[in-house]
Amino acid sequence: KKIIIVGGVAGGATAAARLRRLSEENEIIMIEKGPYISFANCGLPYYIGEVITDRDRLLVQTVEGMSKKFNLDIRNLSEAIKIDREKQTLTIRKVDTGEMYEETYDTLILSPGAKPIVPPFKGLQEAENLFTLRTVPDTDKIKAWVDEKAPEHAVIIGGGFIGLEMAENLVHRGVQVTIVEIGNQVMAPLDYEMASIVNKELKNHGVNLIFNDGVQAFGDKGNKILLQSGRSIDSDLTILSIGVQPENDLAKKADLDIGARGGILVNEYLQTKDENIYAIGDAIEVKDYIQQTPAMIPLAWPANRQGRLVADHIHGQPVSYSGTLGTSVAKVFDLTVATTGNNEKLLKALHKDYEAIHIHPASNASYYPGGSPISLKLLFDPNTGRLLGAQGVGIKGVEKRIDVIATAIKGDLKVTDLADLELAYAPPYSSAKDPVNMAGYVAS
Ligand code: FAD
Repeated sequence: KKIIIVGGVAGGATAAARLRRLSEENEIIMIEKGPYISFANCGLPYYIGEVITDRDRLLVQTVEGMSKKFNLDIRNLSEAIKIDREKQTLTIRKVDTGEMYEETYDTLILSPGAKPIVPPFKGLQEAENLFTLRTVPDTDKIKAWVDEKAPEHAVIIGGGFIGLEMAENLVHRGVQVTIVEIGNQVMAPLDYEMASIVNKELKNHGVNLIFNDGVQAFGDKGNKILLQSGRSIDSDLTILSIGVQPENDLAKKADLDIGARGGILVNEYLQTKDENIYAIGDAIEVKDYIQQTPAMIPLAWPANRQGRLVADHIHGQPVSYSGTLGTSVAKVFDLTVATTGNNEKLLKALHKDYEAIHIHPASNASYYPGGSPISLKLLFDPNTGRLLGAQGVGIKGVEKRIDVIATAIKGDLKVTDLADLELAYAPPYSSAKDPVNMAGYVAS
């Protein structure tokens, strides 16, 4: 069999490695338009912030290393530009030379990811200090700007994960940061009251927050940003991080089905409407695990999991993807912010029956030094006891509690079962009644 994978980072590289582990026989070609494969997207902000100092550490696998280790035909600086489903061919363009050629396939896996949303703002083209962050070359450009121009003031447009991670890392580099957010809170997966705790942390670290306002236009080569409210702010460096949109050009041109929000549509085996073409990662529409409704959830765990599942499915294993819970975690200065499942905003909008509880247990025994409170919010269905979601904000032990609840959700445990989870305890780590147990007691 000849299998071609489009996209050589999270989903693509995982699929390639797994395919090779499952069979020595198949010809596996991985096509990547950028210079690097399998790089650590999630580490990029920390390299700009000089928390990660060794650039090579971002490159998890090199083309040479991975080709050799897994006997793969990896072609970087190669862009897949057209799929002919009848002939089962993929047209590839060499990025350096523009040369085009075709490659036949038996099976195609699309893992092209998502790209930053860049609306056609007035003055955008002339804004020399405006960047988006997705790839290693983007990272190099931003880092060079910080190193060479020593910006005094940076503006981050969009208070999502990437925006907040960039805020922290720029503050770390001594830059004064303003975040402009069109909504009324940072970190959309959190509910408002939980996000308010994050606001305080940002302000305590000198970050200015502007809510309910967005960009109208850029002026003076990007040094001035005119906001929708009419307010104008100065910027020496602007990061546009208002979200991502799925890379769906190839799929669209090949007449594969696309969902309302641009995600490639796949079945539970991650096949598009053409059974020889699979699609995975940020480019696809998934099902929200709790509601089984369409969702776009661009995170690394789903991309990796799906990469492995398609390889297994191609090898005849009876696997399927059951949806994305959206479990996530981020560091915002001294805080850890983590979520899983649905938030209250969504449950309200869907008119679901739910109950929300808030607790503020200590991360570890109060008599042992170094503990701090965790703000934990749990959402469940009062009729069935089904766990619907959780959010945690605090300094220590937050992601552990959210991961336990995410596991409980996947294991179909009820809210009352949380009290019965026997979790590890010693004073430096927890209390004999863990915060997750406490949530179970309070809920029942
Ligand atoms: P990607 O990993 O983006 O890979 C897609 C690749 O396909 C790209 O390299 C692209 O160049 C290539 N490509 C696209 N079109 C073509 C084409 N036509 N031909 C050839 N190649 C093509 N997620 C988390 O869960 N936790 C985090 O902490 C986190 N932090 C992040 C920080 C940053 C700065 C960024 C940018 C992302 C972060 N993410 C994080 C998201 C995570 O990186 C993605 O969800 C994940 O990489 C998606 O995997 P993917 O395979 O779908 O796409």
